[in-house]
Amino acid sequence: MLRRLDLTASSADLRRVLPRARVDVAAAMAVVEPIVTDVAERGYAAARAATLKFDGVDVAAPRVEPHSLTKALDRLDEQVRIGLTESIRRARIGHEAQRRHDAVTEVVPGGTVTERWIPVERVGLYVPGGLAVYPSSVIMNVVPAQVAGVESIAVFSPAQKEFGGLPHPTILAACELLGIDEVYAIGGAQAIAVAAYGDAEYGIAPVDMVTGPGNIYVAAAKRMLRGVIGIDAEAGPTEIAILADATADPSHVAADLISQAEHDPMAASVLVTDSRELAERVDIELLRQVGMTKHTERITTALSGEQSATVLVRDLEQGLAVVDAYAAEHLEVITVNARQWAERVRNAGCVFVGPDSPVSLGDYCAGSNHVLPTGCTARHASGLSVQSFLKGVHLVEYTHDALVAAAPYVVPVAQAEDLPAHAAAMTVRLRDDAPLVAVPVEDIPVRPELRGEKPYGAPQLDVPVMLNVNENPYGPSPELASLIGEAAKTAALELNRYPDREASALRADLAAYLGHGLTADQIWAANGSNEVMVQLLQAFGGPGRTAMSFAPTYAMYPEYARDTHTNWVTAPRADDFTIDIPSALAAIAAYRPDVIFLASPNNPTGTALSIEVIEAICETTSGIVVVDEAYGEFRRSGTPSALSLLERFPRLVVTRTMSKAFALAGARLGYLATNSEIVDALRIVRLPYHLSAVTQAVARVALANAEELLARVDELRSSRDAAVLWLRERGLTVADSDANFVYFSGLSADTHEVWQGLLDRGVLIREVGPAGWLRASIGTPQEMAAFYSALTEVAGLDLKAEGANR
Ligand code: PMP
Repeated sequence: MLRRLDLTASSADLRRVLPRARVDVAAAMAVVEPIVTDVAERGYAAARAATLKFDGVDVAAPRVEPHSLTKALDRLDEQVRIGLTESIRRARIGHEAQRRHDAVTEVVPGGTVTERWIPVERVGLYVPGGLAVYPSSVIMNVVPAQVAGVESIAVFSPAQKEFGGLPHPTILAACELLGIDEVYAIGGAQAIAVAAYGDAEYGIAPVDMVTGPGNIYVAAAKRMLRGVIGIDAEAGPTEIAILADATADPSHVAADLISQAEHDPMAASVLVTDSRELAERVDIELLRQVGMTKHTERITTALSGEQSATVLVRDLEQGLAVVDAYAAEHLEVITVNARQWAERVRNAGCVFVGPDSPVSLGDYCAGSNHVLPTGCTARHASGLSVQSFLKGVHLVEYTHDALVAAAPYVVPVAQAEDLPAHAAAMTVRLRDDAPLVAVPVEDIPVRPELRGEKPYGAPQLDVPVMLNVNENPYGPSPELASLIGEAAKTAALELNRYPDREASALRADLAAYLGHGLTADQIWAANGSNEVMVQLLQAFGGPGRTAMSFAPTYAMYPEYARDTHTNWVTAPRADDFTIDIPSALAAIAAYRPDVIFLASPNNPTGTALSIEVIEAICETTSGIVVVDEAYGEFRRSGTPSALSLLERFPRLVVTRTMSKAFALAGARLGYLATNSEIVDALRIVRLPYHLSAVTQAVARVALANAEELLARVDELRSSRDAAVLWLRERGLTVADSDANFVYFSGLSADTHEVWQGLLDRGVLIREVGPAGWLRASIGTPQEMAAFYSALTEVAGLDLKAEGANR
């Protein structure tokens, strides 16, 4: 009876070769269109005419009276009533589990999306009454709608001539059992149209959505009216596929194929098996069983139609591919390990697992829904469920801050979509300073000249001998530390107040320390001389201005320039790191710098400038001359300070620091002496209260105890001189040093390897300036001994003849 499709040796496109009923909904639409249009115009009157024409009965008032519903239930067969009641109970259990709950999601701080599941307000449920009468379909439509919380449910079912124009009494009884009191005796396309358009005269309110299976005309009307109303699906002829292996009972398989064929001559029954024997035995069973059925003719037509077949497959793996391609409304899996195979099925309306879960169970009483996707739509659609009657509505709620934060992600995309008004609807809500462009973390909008730059700083490593940042190796005495502590404590008691932003007392102390007749208004102080010099460029450099120095020199100068948008230029020093006056003046004439930095003693070379060089430069330039005397206290005797020139040159600035000779690097106090007008310019650019009360207090104690703090300076100077000599005696080139460090080159080994070798021996010095040179700060005698011995070892030094004669 079933035609045989042998795919065991085939690799054909399954979707093409598999049997399928051809349903021409489009053709049916031609029939349905005038009906729907008529109902749209005339309301129920048009539907009434259609009912008369198609159902042969004239129904004057379509709404079923309440007493007809109660009567139908009263007259319902007791066993059927019990069956339907249990079916309702199980369906409710099955569907309650589907109910989704509202969820609030905080997507970003202050930005929430609440998903609310809101039931459709009013639905029309269609229950067919054609070849078979389905009270079970009433249950399968009504239960999910009720569980979803649909407030208004109207059931439509065809008027039956033999029941005086009422729908079938079992349908009415099912409605009554479910508590449905709005039932209309209207079927076919006209029922869908009446549901969609309503009729005020007959008290029929239009619905928002229609669900439920029906014949091809019902499907055509749904297709026409979708848009006016929502629909669940266009139901096509029903279908079953059975994936069975040799273990399946042929009589069960045959019974299930027949049961589906019983619905409709167009129904599809498809057996997919890897067992030829089963196929044959099912054929025999079909012949035996079909003859015994009530609807033999309908069943025979369905089973022998082109839509039904036995598909032979090589194995269950291929069988799985076949049933997936077929995407049956109902799929039974009757195999060994049925559950495992069933779980691998992707496409099916409902899967019935194992020998004891036939489709008939699901039709009535499994607790599942039997309104399922047909005609291959199970590839993408689900059966009717609570979800079918719920609409997910997002509540989007953002705070202003969250909106501001989101704008950079919205505005560029809106603009890219050429929807500037969308962007404007965001920006109109923003304050002026809100960013409009999202910047990935790896691409922050940093100034181009800072991109890829590394922060300045010598390595801060924890090693025994630290000779790398030109600190004073001697900390303050415990007594002085106590004094500093007390001063800090006194300052601390007033830390609720801002400090003296003019640092007047400190500046007076500094003036007194420097001498040269300087007064407080000629002194300026900040957090280290680095800050003093940045402030100088803030006031005297800047865009369009140029700062200049003589290289090699202190590596921070170009950074101050960069950070203040000041153009940076250098002219070279002579080979001995001094500055040759004529070439310096030529460079100044060429660059016309606004600020000139002259480190003296210079870092990293240690070289001090002669007073003549500074004078010559001060005489030539119209800019500011900054003589950086960070290491001024370490000058060799006979090397004058530029402080002596201040009186003569109003644009001369001498900077100093307490980080070096004063042994106070940790306190961060730098200062300068200059013309009071220059100081006033700095007071404009400095941040308010830039110098903390604690810093001011500590610096003042240090100044009051300058004698003690500077006590080691002479010792360090001699040690420096000894170091220069020591290195020279070993054949190295050493720059003249007026600082607390030595700068040397001429190593036979690679400088970096020497630096690393020293570090490996616990001695940290500095690789800085021109290639081949190293810088070592002067430490304690023990530290110097460690430095000498490590260097001797690493660089393979030995006393040269000349030195040996010393
Ligand atoms: N100028 C020169 C030449 C320096 O070497 C240093 C520090 N190494 C400074 C200024 C800055 O020192 P501070 O900020 O600690 O005063």
